[in-house]
Order: sequence, then structure tokens, then C-alpha cells
Amino acid sequence: MFAPASIPPRFRDAYARAERRLIHEVMVKSAWVVLFVSAITNGSVLIRGNSLIETDPAWGYGLRLPPLLVSIFALIMHYRRIPGFDWPLVMLRLISLSAMWSVFGTLVFAYDQGGDAFRMMMELSIVSIFCASLVSLRGLRGCLFPLFVPLSSFLGVMLYRGHPPAELLLNLLSFVSASSIAVLITHVLYRWRVSEFISRQQLNEMSTVDPLTGLMNRRAMAERLESERARYHRLSHSFAVILLDLDYFKRVNDEFGHQAGDRVLREIANRLKLHTRQQDCVARWGGEEFLVLLPDTEEQGAMTTAEKLRTALHEHPFEIGNRPPVSQTGSFGIAVYDGRESASRLIARADQALYMAKECGRNRVVVA
Ligand code: GH3
Ligand code: MG
Ligand code: MG
Repeated sequence: MFAPASIPPRFRDAYARAERRLIHEVMVKSAWVVLFVSAITNGSVLIRGNSLIETDPAWGYGLRLPPLLVSIFALIMHYRRIPGFDWPLVMLRLISLSAMWSVFGTLVFAYDQGGDAFRMMMELSIVSIFCASLVSLRGLRGCLFPLFVPLSSFLGVMLYRGHPPAELLLNLLSFVSASSIAVLITHVLYRWRVSEFISRQQLNEMSTVDPLTGLMNRRAMAERLESERARYHRLSHSFAVILLDLDYFKRVNDEFGHQAGDRVLREIANRLKLHTRQQDCVARWGGEEFLVLLPDTEEQGAMTTAEKLRTALHEHPFEIGNRPPVSQTGSFGIAVYDGRESASRLIARADQALYMAKECGRNRVVVA
């Protein structure tokens, strides 16, 4: 899983998922671009019967065909949705490597042919910008593979063939400056994309998380309830809700102050999370009201959970600084989804049960 260090740990999974989708999209688009360009290059050689750059035929095919074959392979794998084939980053690197192989390889032959070599340099600059734009997916560290590996291999081959380094560097000046600009621009784009992602996540968090307790807020829970109803209609998996209201909570504020009240609310949130399953959702529904959604749960299961939560509050008083611990209980109303009603009707039934629990003396569980 890849995520830049600037991404806060809680957003890393989401970043990795978003990046994977992006890589997939870039891979498919790059495959189309490379396919198009190499079809034209191969087509023009076929029509003219010879290439502008003189190579023997085996080298000609060896240089021109790989990008064409790799991009066709990538597109077939994508559109046929071959099961188990899900390596967008590997494919993207293969596409960029095959394109660079083709360009740098041709350049080795073009270099000795004077005028054409210069033209090739310019084409190379364009390809380098294309490859550098792929780099923007992972910032500067992504440059190494698509740019510097082919460039250094090319330099190695040319030095081996006896070209003086000073002349080589001079001839590569246009390529180096074009790709440096491309790398800089794409790096700025990458940084912008990462900060954009963080702000979007923070905004999303603000609109779905209760800042005091860190639980889901009412809005997020309402959405969750709707998707649970949809799941019921698809799969007939029953679910239940528990509405919990703290008993005489006003007294805590009145006696110990609002900050102590906040502390108790945070601790209650922790206990609710601790005593529910991972797939259950706990939300702060109102001031001192909480709603627990229990997927795949019938009445009996909901009663057991509510009783466990009631005991978790009742049996362990709450620490609030230097004072003696405060005892705090809650009343619980349960409603099991009946298969027809709206989410608000389900909550209204849980609320009626909660009202009954209050009426019957509080600190108890009542089923609607
Ligand atoms: P009941 O058993 O009938 O529910 O009594 P109650 O005192 O809990 O009910 P009431 O509705 O009269 O009071 C709820 C209290 O919850 C009032 C308010 O001060 C407190 N409260 C609501 N939100 C917060 C909060 O965010 N922080 C703190 N500290 N208190 C809150
Ligand atoms: Mg209340
Ligand atoms: Mg209350």
C-alpha cells in the first residue's frame, strides 16, 4: 500500500484506494495513446517500405513492436476483465518502459545519422513529457523508472560505442531540459493532488463525524440506515437499532460542569464502541442520545447487545478529574426493521420504546 508521508494515517487506506483507481484510469488512457502512436509509426513504415532511421529489419521490429504489443495486451486485459489480472501499476510501467525502449533504442541508430538524430531528439522530448506525466502519480520517486532507467541505459550504450560524453550531453540538452520542465510541472501537480485529497477527506470527515465523541454523526448514520434498508431488500438480512438516552444527564452538567459532561459523553462513546461488533455502527444521534445500528441481527441479539451496553454504563462509574466517580445510567429502546417501514418510522418506534423505558423507571431496555 502506497501513501505519501504527508497523508495522515487515518486517510491512508482511502488514499491507496483512490490512487489505485487513478493508476488504472491512467493506464488505460496511456495504452490507447501508445497504441495510436505506434500504430501510426508501424503503419507509415509499412506504407513507405522503409523507416527514416536505418536499422536492419530485426532491430526495426524489435524497437517498434513492443509498445504496440504491450498496449494491445493491456487493453485486452482491461476490457475482457480477465479475473485475477489486476496490476495496473505494473502495466503502466511496462507501457512506459516499452515506449521509452522504442524511442531510446531508435535514437542509438539515429544518432549516427546527423539531421535525423536532431529530429528524433525533438520527438523524444515529447515522449519524455508523456512519460513524465505518468510520474505525477507518485511524485519524484516515480521518475526513476520511466525516465532515468532508459536515459542512463542509452548513455551507457553510447559511451560504450565511443561517443564523447561532452558531445552526448550537448545533444541531449533539449531532451533533458524538456523532461526537467515536465517533471517539475508534474511534481507540482502531484503535490496539489495530495493536498486536494487531504482537504477533501477532512471536509468529508467534518460532515460525517461528531467532533466531541469521534462517532458517526446523525447525517452519516441516516445514510448508513438507508444502505442497510437497501441491503435488507436485496438479501433479506434483518437488522435492528438501539436508541439510547442518558438518564438525568442534565444533573451531571449542573453538578460538575459542562466539561465534565463532555468527558462522560466521550467515555460513553468509547464504551459503546468497545461493547459492539466491528460491523455495528454507533452514532451520536443528539445531545446525549446515541443510536446503534446492528446489521444481521434479530430481536434476541439486539436485546443481548442492549443489555450488555446498559451494564457497561451502569456497573462502572465515570471518572471526572479529582472528584469521586459519577454513576451514569441510560435507557434503551430497540426496534427491529419490519421490512416495509421507512428509516424514520423505524427510529420513531425505537424512540417510543425508549420513552417506555424512561416511564418504567429508566436504566432499562424495552423492545418496540
Ligand atoms: P432524562 O432522563 O429524562 O433523559 O433526563 P436528562 O437530564 O438526560 O434529559 P434532558 O433532555 O432534560 O437533558 C439533556 C441534557 O444533556 C441537557 C444538556 O445540557 C445535556 N447535553 C446535551 N448535549 C451535550 C453536550 O454536548 N455536552 C454536555 N456536557 N451536555 C450535553
Ligand atoms: Mg435526551
Ligand atoms: Mg437524557
